[in-house]
Amino acid sequence: MRNHAKSRAGADIIKVHATGGVLSPTDHPEFTQFSQEELHVMLEEASFRKGIKVMAHAQGAEGIKNAVRAGIHSIEHGIFLDDEAIELMLEHGTYLVPTLLAPVAVLESAEKNDDMPEYGIRKCREVIEQH
Ligand SMILES: [Zn+2]
Repeated sequence: MRNHAKSRAGADIIKVHATGGVLSPTDHPEFTQFSQEELHVMLEEASFRKGIKVMAHAQGAEGIKNAVRAGIHSIEHGIFLDDEAIELMLEHGTYLVPTLLAPVAVLESAEKNDDMPEYGIRKCREVIEQH
């Protein structure tokens, strides 16, 4: 049996936040968090050296493209995907995990209880149609 790659702390997969998000208090889904070069270093360490897959929380188009060009395994959310990002993903064989129920779950949760932060509800309403 082949040894399964893990990080030192035991992670099988690493998720990086390539862009801001709906439920993070101080950014926006379209904000870019890492350059392509920074993401490439993460991939060198995790994937190319150890075989650990790296996925990217990526909502804004620039962050998605940085992640895809760096060689990320999959894009989570992909809210502001544009044609160029789709072409790049096809070229690189990058998976898309669209998480279409995530914004629905945020709004449903906000209706059921009052612990959903106001910024999360506001940003969710802002991006749900595009998503
Ligand atoms: Zn995410």
